[in-house]
Amino acid sequence: MATIDFDQVNSVIDVPEPAQRLLSKSEKEIKFSLNLLLHPHGLVEADAYVVYHNTARGPAKGGLRIWPTVTLEHTRDLAELMTWKTALVGVPFGGGKSGICLDPARLVGANKAAIIKEYVHMISGELLSGAYVPAPDLGSTPSDMAVIYGETHKPESVTGKPPRVGGLPGRREATGYGVSHVAALASEAFLGKPISEMRVAVQGFGNVGEWTCRFLCQRGAKIVAVTDITGGIYCTGGLHLDGVCKHVSATGGIAGCGEAGEVRSGVEGDQITNAELLALDVDILIPAAVEGVITEENAGAVKARLVVEAANGPLTRSGEAILRASGIPVVPDILANSGGVVASYVEWRQAKSGAMTRAEETYETVAEQLEAAFHRVRQIAEERKLDDSRGEAPPPLRLAAQAVAVEELVATMRDRGWIP
Ligand code: NAD
Repeated sequence: MATIDFDQVNSVIDVPEPAQRLLSKSEKEIKFSLNLLLHPHGLVEADAYVVYHNTARGPAKGGLRIWPTVTLEHTRDLAELMTWKTALVGVPFGGGKSGICLDPARLVGANKAAIIKEYVHMISGELLSGAYVPAPDLGSTPSDMAVIYGETHKPESVTGKPPRVGGLPGRREATGYGVSHVAALASEAFLGKPISEMRVAVQGFGNVGEWTCRFLCQRGAKIVAVTDITGGIYCTGGLHLDGVCKHVSATGGIAGCGEAGEVRSGVEGDQITNAELLALDVDILIPAAVEGVITEENAGAVKARLVVEAANGPLTRSGEAILRASGIPVVPDILANSGGVVASYVEWRQAKSGAMTRAEETYETVAEQLEAAFHRVRQIAEERKLDDSRGEAPPPLRLAAQAVAVEELVATMRDRGWIP
């Protein structure tokens, strides 16, 4: 498996062979079936999985995905990704993930809660011991996390709960906050200018995209374009974000926002497609929607001077190679979108201590952890003289981020006596 290539990482740091072996497999994989007779569905049978990739640094942390395409293999990859993220941003968690292969949109009434309660019963040992700590992911929500808490009665057994149910102020916004913070650091570092002078285009206007836009605006950046699955809007002078949000909550998507005759939003701008957004002449492009949107076919059209990956895996390998050849730096997902897992750590700490946390404290911790990781990644990229002429190697920042994470895990596994 391995979502990272140890041959490449070994070209930057020496990964001891025993560490490589431990990091190349899951520590634990649980496969089970959720079987419930539910009205009006009849007998529902769903395959479910929990994977611990590596717990050297702490409990296996990672979301619960409830989606019809969930498989053990994909759950395994996602658990592994969490190992790298938690190590890179320095929180005391390991990498984990769980999944239920089911379409949540087809469940009516309280049936989703019934499924989640059964999931808790089936893995109660993992949850009550604190060995695996879930959070919302595709198809699961803060309310679903409240259901988990309702079953375990332990606030630290799950994160991403609604703030009134032991959740964390600032948790919902944390990933977008982190993306905006990393974009600001990258703007200074790679473009030599403050974020307040940047023109930014954002693909995706869900949780991550919207909050990224809002925090970038607060920092003085100009959001000139946003798109979602329905369409997009572009205004060279900068978009009126509150108007875009108003339109999205009234109609369910960006399509039609600012169109002639549309007065509700008060937004002015031109309608654009997702393909047009990716090719806009902007300073920073932030893909914050889905994976695999910048590919061999369209990477050549990217005119942005910096790309910040807010979504997981928005660039394909060949798309990334084309950006590299054009000298466009890419801030990798495991660094840019890790604000959420840092906030999860703050929520877990709050739950364990019984303390209360202000949203500002959440943001401060996200900023501190991401900033430290950003500087470490840059330092490794510069010290090891990673440059863009390395052919098949991942570009410097991605490879450096992977190296920082692996180095951290190797040291932790030594501390624990897992490897010589
Ligand atoms: P979301 O479901 O809230 O929003 C997704 C947005 O992308 C929506 O606006 C949707 O319309 C748009 N979209 C979907 N398909 C599209 C397409 N083909 N083209 C253009 N736009 C499209 O999801 P989210 O929570 O904002 O997550 C976005 C990405 O960020 C995902 O890759 C997710 O894995 C990653 N991520 C999220 C978090 C988090 O805390 N939510 C943390 C880390 C990474």
